[in-house]
Amino acid sequence: MHPVFATCGTSVFEEMSRLSATHGAINLGQGFPVGMEPPGVVEAAVRALGEVSHQYPPMMGVPALRQAVAEANRRFWGLEVDGETEVLITSGATEALADCFLALINPGDEVIVFQPAYDSYGVAIRRAGGVPVPIRLDPPNWDLPRQQILDAITPRTRLIVVNSPMNPIGKVFDRDELGFLADLLDRHDLIAVCDEVYEHITFDDVVHVPLMTFPQARERCLRIGSAGKTFSVTGWKVGYVTAASALLGPVARAHQFLTFTTPPMLQSAVAFGLRLGDDYFDGLKATLRRRRDVLATGLQRLGAEVLTCDGTYFLCVGIASLGGGGDDHDLCRRLTVEAGVATIPLSSFYEGGAVRSHLRFCFAKETDELERAVSRIESWL
Ligand code: PMP
Ligand code: GLN
Repeated sequence: MHPVFATCGTSVFEEMSRLSATHGAINLGQGFPVGMEPPGVVEAAVRALGEVSHQYPPMMGVPALRQAVAEANRRFWGLEVDGETEVLITSGATEALADCFLALINPGDEVIVFQPAYDSYGVAIRRAGGVPVPIRLDPPNWDLPRQQILDAITPRTRLIVVNSPMNPIGKVFDRDELGFLADLLDRHDLIAVCDEVYEHITFDDVVHVPLMTFPQARERCLRIGSAGKTFSVTGWKVGYVTAASALLGPVARAHQFLTFTTPPMLQSAVAFGLRLGDDYFDGLKATLRRRRDVLATGLQRLGAEVLTCDGTYFLCVGIASLGGGGDDHDLCRRLTVEAGVATIPLSSFYEGGAVRSHLRFCFAKETDELERAVSRIESWL
C-alpha cells in the first residue's frame, strides 16, 4: 500500500457514524443534513431518470449544468464566468479537490493549509507528491496569523487551500482577510484552491465572498462548490469547479482519469436546483440558523462554551464545559457510548499540534432531535 494510505486510518466521520449506530446514539458527528432535501430538486432527479440518457455524459459535465453553474456565479457573486471553458462538473467536491491537487502539484511543491482542515486535504496533497504546510488557527476567534503565513512562503510554495465558510469552525473569511490572501497570490505567484462548498450557508449579517471576486485573484483561483451542501443531498456527490480555462484544463485532465463523468440525471436535477428562486436559498439559511440557535441555546443552558458559528452547519463546543478532562477523543467516545450523542473531536482536523479543547457538533438535524441530544447530555452531566 502507498505509505499515505498505510498511515491515514479510517476517516473519523466513518468511525464516529459506526460508533454512533452501534450505540444507538443521536449522530451529530458526520456532517449530513436531515429532512432538508428540496422536493422540487428530488422530483427533477426522478424525472430526469426517465428522460435523460443513461450513457456517459460529456466529460466536462452536462451543458445545462455547466451553464447553470456559470449563471449562479453571476447571480450570487457577480462573477462573469464562461460555462463552456471555465466550469467542470465532478463527482462531489472531494473529487474536485483531488483533481486540483493531482493536476497542479509537482513533487515537493508546498501547499499552505489552514488548520483545522477538512480531512481529505492532507491525504490528497501528499498522494499527489505535495508537502502540506499547516498554519494553525486558534479558538475562540480563529484569526488568520498573517505574519506566520508570510513566513511560511518559500520558493517551493505553489498552492494555498482556502475553505470559507470553514469546516469545522464556522469561520467565514471577511473582506480584509480575503484581500490579504488575494494580494498574497498575486505577489508570490500562487494558486488558491477555494473550497466553498458551504457558500450558501451563512448566518445573520455575515456574507460569503469568494476569493475569486478580487480582480488580482480572478485567474488564480479554483472555486469548488457542492450540490451535496447546497441542496442537502450529500449522497449525490455532484461538485463543480469554476476557474480560468488555463487553470481548469489540467484539472479536467485529472478528472478524466479519476471518474471521467458524474451521473447525468443528477447533473440535470442540480441544474434545476441552481435556478431555484431566492426563497429557496433564503430558506436554507433560515432553517439552518434556527437549528443552530436551538442547539447553541440548549447547550449554553447547560453551561457549555459554544463558539460563534457564522457559516457551515457546525458548532464548536469547549470540552471543559461539557465535563471533559484532558482529551477530546476520550470525551467524544464517552458522549457517544454513555450519553448517546455522537460528535467529532476537533483534533481530528489537525496534523500535528492539534487544538484538543473542543468538539464539533453538526446541527443540520431536526430541531426535536437537537433538543433530545441536549436532554441526553443534561442527564449524563
Ligand atoms: N469540503 C468540505 C469543507 C466539506 O465539509 C466536504 C464535506 N462534506 C467536502 C469538501 C466534500 O464534499 P462532497 O460531499 O461534495 O464531496
Ligand atoms: N464533510 C462531512 C463532515 O465534515 C463528512 C464527509 C465525509 O463523511 N467524508 O462531516
